[in-house]
Amino acid sequence: MESQNRNGIFLLDDKSMVHELLNRVKLQKPEICFIDGQHFVILKNCRFELQGNGLFRFEVGELGREDLQEKGIAVVKEYLKQVKTRVFRNIVFVLGAGASADYLPQSKELLPLLVDQGCEYIVRLLKDFFYVDTESPNYLWPSLSEVLNFIEIALEKNEYLGGDYPIETLENIKNRILDDLCQLLSDRVNASKESDTSYVKLIRNLAKMLVNGLLDQIGFISLNYDPLLDIALKRVVGSKKIDYLLRLEDINIKQEEPGDSKPEIEIKRQIPVVKFHGSMEWMFCPFCSKIYRVNTERGLSRSLLRCRHDGVLLKWFIYPPMKEKHPMPSDIWTVLHLKADDLLREADRVVFIGCSLSEDDSFFRFRVKRCLYNPRKPTSIVVVDAPPKDFARPTSVELNYWHFLGPVDYRPVGFEKFAVDCC
Ligand SMILES: [Zn+2]
Repeated sequence: MESQNRNGIFLLDDKSMVHELLNRVKLQKPEICFIDGQHFVILKNCRFELQGNGLFRFEVGELGREDLQEKGIAVVKEYLKQVKTRVFRNIVFVLGAGASADYLPQSKELLPLLVDQGCEYIVRLLKDFFYVDTESPNYLWPSLSEVLNFIEIALEKNEYLGGDYPIETLENIKNRILDDLCQLLSDRVNASKESDTSYVKLIRNLAKMLVNGLLDQIGFISLNYDPLLDIALKRVVGSKKIDYLLRLEDINIKQEEPGDSKPEIEIKRQIPVVKFHGSMEWMFCPFCSKIYRVNTERGLSRSLLRCRHDGVLLKWFIYPPMKEKHPMPSDIWTVLHLKADDLLREADRVVFIGCSLSEDDSFFRFRVKRCLYNPRKPTSIVVVDAPPKDFARPTSVELNYWHFLGPVDYRPVGFEKFAVDCC
């Protein structure tokens, strides 16, 4: 490639890609990336023109330059060495808590928020088991996931946590935490329901690519139990185009107004969505394993909902990340896992958004590693992370991915920018 400031030419090695590339650049704003000394240069919003015989002329719209330290340069160089000219037609997105961070409180903030709402039973539990009271600084508190994991393991092993905490009390505390948590989250979700979230922007871009034939298939694996992805899919492509890979029945749900379900973009195929940790919009029957979609509006009691088929009280279908065993009913768990495995294996590109792949979810991390192991045709891995606070690369999240999955295309641009520009 040769370039002079704002324009240049490059030659495409693989001539069969010419047509595909021309089609793509009509709809997307392409980027050209390379390393120049100690800088990672990104030529954004380029305009391409075919000069014949695989030779392209380009004009640069915007120049991006990231200063990298020695280690950062080495990481990027190593990645670029692995990149081959490939066309990606089947993309799977893995969404973690960071994807919802602009709209919902994160795991560390949830416990203080629940305490502020006056949840006395949590205050007592924190004092008895974690030696913190509401006067202690928040950073000394455990996260909500840690507290729930602690209770879950006692329930799983059928062990009391002292005379004041028999199994029934623990079960009760867990249910109340989930009740209050769902209420807290659904209030926030309802506040952002009408807005163009990053989820909406991403799905709009993807749906256009599906319609224009630039993509064959997309899929989602969500590690979040909030419904922001679901809301965005319903709005852009319509609820009939979501395939949760499980049979869901509606309960206490108001019939939608006519026109509510008119999608913005008509796509042909359904989009598979695996909700790995359940959903705050779902409850299930512990007897027949039926899963119900429930109304999450404030003031509607969900604690007394019963299964339509056998009258058994419904339970929450929310499973926070676990280090050991996953407590989801095993038949449903198997279905979700096999489907997630298939999605990951069939994808030629997997995009992780707001997902740190940390020790907290080592069960899921193991599955990802297993499914993406394909030496003959390595899957392209993109990691979308929040911009680093001190601009030091490689970041801990970036290294985490390299350690587990090898070369990754790390993009610390934030979900919103990725949703608009990069996909
Ligand atoms: Zn039932």
